[in-house]
Amino acid sequence: MRRKLVVGNWKMHGSRAANAQLLAGLKEAGPWNADVAVCVPAVYIAETALALTGNAIVYGAQDCSSHEQGAYTGEVSSAMLADVGCRYVIVGHSERRAYHAESDQLVADKAKAALAHGVTPIVCVGETRAEREAGQTEAVVKRQLAAVIHTLGHCCGEMVVAYEPVWAIGTGLTASPAEAQAVHAVLRAQLHAATDRSGVMRILYGGSVKADNAAELFSQADIDGGLIGGASLKVADFAAICRAA
Ligand code: PGA
Repeated sequence: MRRKLVVGNWKMHGSRAANAQLLAGLKEAGPWNADVAVCVPAVYIAETALALTGNAIVYGAQDCSSHEQGAYTGEVSSAMLADVGCRYVIVGHSERRAYHAESDQLVADKAKAALAHGVTPIVCVGETRAEREAGQTEAVVKRQLAAVIHTLGHCCGEMVVAYEPVWAIGTGLTASPAEAQAVHAVLRAQLHAATDRSGVMRILYGGSVKADNAAELFSQADIDGGLIGGASLKVADFAAICRAA
């Protein structure tokens, strides 16, 4: 009943030439049975939009401002993202939480701003290695998600959630399907208590998803697709992950 969603997170990679090649390759490789999106660096959104015109692959951004508009040098608003046709925006990626000191509340405010303009936020949650080793995984992801649920109120049913254990991102270490499923079940239960849409909401897994582990991860009851970093930069790898979904 939940259609799988696979989202490529290009992070700060790419160039006009490389993007054109990657997108052309993906158009050639698709379509797939899953919904597919690419979240690209902001400067490349417009060109990505052009490249994907008429294609089922949709596109989005990797961050947005929590503010509506105004004197916020360097920021991009969710209204601007909507203006250039973004379907999704990633908020609260662990790299932004870590390197830009984004708090749970700021992430929640960004998600709210996105939804206000019809851009679906992909809200990332996840524990660090130290937190996992200290047995805090559940408490950490619940705290991160609670801030968003509280801020969005009844609109929380419109978001996508991504569970990305920080220790699995870009490291080649993946949570086992059972480990990931256990956390997804916790998140699903938390959503269930907050919205009657929990059954149709998509919870993605992210963290070293590759062509050879995607199918098993995606077969778990509460894993509805993936947020893909490194493997989204190569046509063959990303296409294989989309096929597995
Ligand atoms: P990775 O990144 O697939 O390279 O581990 C995932 C992410 O950070 O979204």
